[in-house]
Order: sequence, then C-alpha cells, then structure tokens
Amino acid sequence: MVQIDPRRLLADLRRLAGFGKVGSGVDRPAFTPADIAARRWLEQRMREAGLDASIDRYGNVYGRTPGARRAVLIGSHTDSVPKGGWLDGALGVVYGLEIARACIEQGCGAGIDVISFQEEEGRYSPLLGARSFCGLLDEQSLPSNLIEAIAASGFGGEPARLERARHFAYLEAHIEQGPKLEAARRRIGVVSGIVGIRRARVAAQGRADHAGTTPMSMRRDAGATLVRLAHAVLERFAGMAGADTVWNIGALELQPGAANVVPSAASMQVEFRDMDEARLEAMRAALHDLVVQAGRGQVTVELEETARIAPAPMDPELAGVIAEAARSIGEEPLALPSGAGHDAMVLSRVVPSAMLFIPSIGGRSHDVAEDTAEEDIVLGCRVLARAVEHLARGME
Ligand SMILES: [Zn+2]
Repeated sequence: MVQIDPRRLLADLRRLAGFGKVGSGVDRPAFTPADIAARRWLEQRMREAGLDASIDRYGNVYGRTPGARRAVLIGSHTDSVPKGGWLDGALGVVYGLEIARACIEQGCGAGIDVISFQEEEGRYSPLLGARSFCGLLDEQSLPSNLIEAIAASGFGGEPARLERARHFAYLEAHIEQGPKLEAARRRIGVVSGIVGIRRARVAAQGRADHAGTTPMSMRRDAGATLVRLAHAVLERFAGMAGADTVWNIGALELQPGAANVVPSAASMQVEFRDMDEARLEAMRAALHDLVVQAGRGQVTVELEETARIAPAPMDPELAGVIAEAARSIGEEPLALPSGAGHDAMVLSRVVPSAMLFIPSIGGRSHDVAEDTAEEDIVLGCRVLARAVEHLARGME
C-alpha cells in the first residue's frame, strides 16, 4: 500500500505558494517570472523524486517514471489567475508529485507520470498546455502576444505528448471552488463531468430621443425592450433548469447612457451551463424565441452566439475507482458536476479521465481568500493514492 507523506505534501504546497506570493494567495499567471520560476522549481522537485523531468516549449512540466511501459497520468496546472488562490491547480500537481515520489520510494512498481499543464487559466489562450499535450493545439493560430511570451520564457523543449500506448488514465484532483461539498458535509467529491457552456450576446437597436418630451407610446426604447427581455429570459430558464443548471446575465449596457435620453441601443451577455447538451440546446432555442418575440415591436433585437463548449463527461469506471478508494478509507463521496473548466475537459477527449474534488472553505476561489483545511488536503491525496494503486494492479 502506498503511504503518502502528509508533511512533505503540505511543505511542497507551501513552497510552491511562495512563488508569486501575495498575502495568503498567489499571483502567478502563465509566463510571468513567478510562473516560470515555479515551473523550474517543480522540474527540479520531480527529478529529486526520481522522475525523468523536463519542461517543453509551452511550459508544460512533465515527469515520467523511468522504465515504465504504462503509466497513470496525474496532473493539473500551476499557473493562476491574477491574485488567485494557492491551491487552484497546484493541489493536483503536488498530489501527483507526492504519489509518484512515495511510489518510487516504496517500490510499488506502478508507472506514474506527473504533469503541470501551462496556461490553464487563459491569460492568452486557455488550456494551452493541455491542448498541446493532447495534440489538439493549432500551432499556426496562436496569438502574437503568446508567441512572444513563449519566446521570452526560455522554455525550448519539444512539446510533451500524450502516448496512447502508455497513458491509460488521467486523474486530476482539484479544489471544488464552490460550496457544495461543504454544504453536504462531505470531504471528497467525485466529478461526474465538466459542464458545457453557451454564451450569447443580445443587442437591441432603437432610437435616442428626449426622455422628457417624447410620449411613451412614440418611443423606440432599446433599454426597456432589453430589460423586459432579460426578465423573460431569467423566468424561462428557471422553468427549464435541472438541479445543476446555472445561468447568468453578466453584462448589461445602455447607450448613450444618460438619465434624460431614451436609450438608442442596449446589449447584454447571457451565459448558461449544464451537463446535458440537450438542455443547453433547449435553452438556446428558448433564448432565440424570446429574442424574436422582443424584436416584433419598434426595436430590433438580434442574437449572436459567442461561445459553445460541449459538456465533458468523466469516465464512469475511473470515477467509480475514485469513489471506491474514498469508501475504502471511510469517506462517502459526493458525486457532482464541475461548473468550472479544467485541464481534464481537454484530456477527456483523448484518454479516460476522472476528477476528485476536495472542499473549498466558504466555496471561495479565484481569490487570495481561497483555502482548504489541511486534513482535507491530506485526505484527498490519500484517496487519490489509493485509486492509483487500484489502477496499477490492472496495469500489466
Ligand atoms: Zn484550476
């Protein structure tokens, strides 16, 4: 049985959090000096653990178990959002490091490869490292500021690549970044899938008029039309939502934007997320119908779809292995979808993938306030190690 070292695990997490430290969090966006230094440190730490470690041209830090023919891949990311938390991404990478290290020390015989993907958070182009690793990156279409950042980073290795004959499973542990585990008083979450995302921009065009002299019946008020439409959208979505459906009107703008001018133009951005592609499609159709209805008066209303990301279901068998691992040490896990994107959404397209969540205190994340109890950090690593052990038994 692989025994992880809780003190070493926590010490490595704390050391990693020293790169780009700001208060209790980190400021470590991809390709910043703090990110680059953290990646160099991680490469060294992987070597000390006995892994063949290297950094590829995109900044992916990749450690392979020498001599293994097949391997479980464990990873996440070490870049952060600006003024982010110390565990977002870092947790899953350091879990991989500790489990591989413990396994090599204890001669458990399993192949474990560890990776920190670059640029998960999207300073330039989200999920860059994972897409490159999976052969899903169009290298010709990178933005020029990203090409400059890569050149300036000093990273130059050949892109690391997933090997289908070697990698038979990808495991990513992550903090939940939401309040569901805490609310359910569970310490381990098993992710059923990563939700799909749709975004649309709705724009209304009317006519600007004097708001004191123009009778209500003669106005072409783009603002009032859009606000009524926004209300109708919120009501309609609430009527068709499942337990985990979420939606958001995150931006709303009126032009020209003065108390005494009837708005000539108005726009809003609508986003909705769900695991069920059919529900997402029904919501899109409902939004479309409401826009058509709203545009039947004196104001034109148009809909433009701006993002469509398919849900990424996790591998049920692998998820089951994590759930069993949790039960075997006395923790009943909670199955839940991930409302946030993760490297696993890319990996799951090419290799069976699963995710484990541990609680975020107060559900806080993408902020320096992000934190998790140390006992939960240690428990999550024990569960993941147990799951890896189970998979290793079926490896050869
Ligand atoms: Zn993350």
